[in-house]
Amino acid sequence: MNDKRGLDLGPVIDWITDNKAEINRRLEWVQQYRGGTEKPPYVLREKERLLLSEQEISAVIHRYPETARQRSILSVVSGQAPAWFHKDSTKEEPFPTDKVEEALCPTSIIPGYIRYPTWTPEKKEAEIWLYQLEGVPVDVARVILIYTLLHEYCHTLVAELFYNETYRLLWGSEQREITGLEVMTEFAKLATKYSPISHYSSIYWPLPTEPEDPRFYVSVSEEMCDTVAAHLLRFMYCDDEKRRLNPLADRPEVKAATIRFLETCRAS
Ligand SMILES: [Zn+2]
Repeated sequence: MNDKRGLDLGPVIDWITDNKAEINRRLEWVQQYRGGTEKPPYVLREKERLLLSEQEISAVIHRYPETARQRSILSVVSGQAPAWFHKDSTKEEPFPTDKVEEALCPTSIIPGYIRYPTWTPEKKEAEIWLYQLEGVPVDVARVILIYTLLHEYCHTLVAELFYNETYRLLWGSEQREITGLEVMTEFAKLATKYSPISHYSSIYWPLPTEPEDPRFYVSVSEEMCDTVAAHLLRFMYCDDEKRRLNPLADRPEVKAATIRFLETCRAS
């Protein structure tokens, strides 16, 4: 579980290929989306490298409830040329290469990335990169990019939990004000009772539950983002075969915390 297998998209590509009909049924909401007429709060860059259309990107983002979208700091979605995890990557420090010959393996493809070009007390902005997926059939690449966009978009909600000390959310029916760190710690404690939500998130396990742990932020945010994506997609490639088409089936408490996180509003 602790090796670099999570950096290889190969098994994910194979699983999507084998389950294409069922997965596409579960993604019908993307094509059914009719909104997106209002001007989005983000801009698209390098559109020629984006496999998803403007309307599809809007559909994916609107899969999130409005309460979550109001908290997002997304400002840019940008297409990118293909990239892979470099063969010298470690699971603590994966790094990219644009040359497939230098990759861990031909399918250690990087689908997405999140960066924060502006981070000041007054203004925080996130930029999502969606890569072209070289060598992946288009219909499979679309599924991977829908998943990736859901995952990266979750980072635009999660980043402030850890890195903005004044951030507060209104939690539960009593609308109690809680800090971002409390949300993350509670989530980590619930998640760690189970197995990693996904093939990808397994590289960040064992999951730290103490914010003082230097691995806490990255590990817990990756587990959170893949849990939210799994909840919104209703599928996720994970080591536990039985769970792939019902990824939160074994963890009702995690599911409840995920829904609460999405439906909560910001207090300050
Ligand atoms: Zn991530």
